[in-house]
Amino acid sequence: MVKRISTTELRKQNRNQVFRAVYEAQTPLTKQDISQKLNMSLPTVTQNLKELFDEEVLLYAGTEESTGGRKARLITLNTDIYFAVGIELSPKHIRFIAINLRAEELAYKKVEFPFRNTLEYRQFYAQQLEEFLDENNLERSRLLGVGITLPGIINEQQGIVEIAPVLQVRHMKLFLLTEVIPYPVYVQNDASAGGVAEWWQYEGLNAMAYLFIGKGVGGALMIDGKPYEGNTLRSAEFGHMCIEINGKLCDCGKRGCLEAYCSSSCISDDLGLTIEEFFQRLQMGEPLVRKIWEEYVERLVTAIHNIHMVLDCPIVLGGVLVPFLEDYLPMMREVLKRKAFFPEEEQCLLLGKCRGKANCIGVALHFIYDFLEQI
Ligand SMILES: [Zn+2]
Repeated sequence: MVKRISTTELRKQNRNQVFRAVYEAQTPLTKQDISQKLNMSLPTVTQNLKELFDEEVLLYAGTEESTGGRKARLITLNTDIYFAVGIELSPKHIRFIAINLRAEELAYKKVEFPFRNTLEYRQFYAQQLEEFLDENNLERSRLLGVGITLPGIINEQQGIVEIAPVLQVRHMKLFLLTEVIPYPVYVQNDASAGGVAEWWQYEGLNAMAYLFIGKGVGGALMIDGKPYEGNTLRSAEFGHMCIEINGKLCDCGKRGCLEAYCSSSCISDDLGLTIEEFFQRLQMGEPLVRKIWEEYVERLVTAIHNIHMVLDCPIVLGGVLVPFLEDYLPMMREVLKRKAFFPEEEQCLLLGKCRGKANCIGVALHFIYDFLEQI
């Protein structure tokens, strides 16, 4: 049986297609461009454009260069008409980001404030959010929603943070986090949010593994733009893959986990250095630092190779190290090439483009994706 679409539904689809055509175009389009691109009649395009102009989500952007005759008007996205906010809660600080409809950063701030499972803490970030909006002249009427991301397993069905070891939280009701925010709110695991942000940056993939390296090591497995969460919300725990039998003790209590060898602490806190200092010394060629780095890469790349053998997809690194890794990417790919089973496997290793802000951006993107679907 052919499923019939109601007229209202069809109108909505047309409108969405017209909007998307302008949104996805690299340059402004004319009405005729849209009509051709969508194979839609000019009157239908015109009608939909009128609605979208009335709502101010599209704009005229001058006229086309013309070789004669009447110049056609160019249509583009009103990029800053709406925005979304992402808030990242972590053990020592809170970060805020505002992004526009193209996921470009409008404002950012980081506040040092240790996590506590108290109402005062929650009221603090709610208050900081209001100040953030005021300081940056972000109009509340244009705010699509506020995403909150944290390092924990979020069970939306049960409405709880199941567990967030680094925050020392267990079975915390989600409404406690959200009730202090007077806007639409969405809560997401930090690594999943990071995966969403990098997915947005890397167009045209079917699947992607996002490997996050911080004090904890985790990640997300992105399939068709969505984090694949697994049967019990525990997928992509790359940090606790065993890479060394009877190896170093991990924070999780087991031995030989990737996190025990490749957390950012292994090349900073554990050595009494900051990450910047570590890479400075590495650049100066200090033999001991160089040896530690080579061992670090050996382990990390082993994990990357293993992930690739299972998933056969690009592996995007995220987290605090990424800005320092650009110079070392060729060397890391060389190591991967040596371990590779398939030719050109080393090409699967990519660096995240969000420069340490992926988690905040990703959770805010929830509302941008929602907007793009609904408009
Ligand atoms: Zn572990």
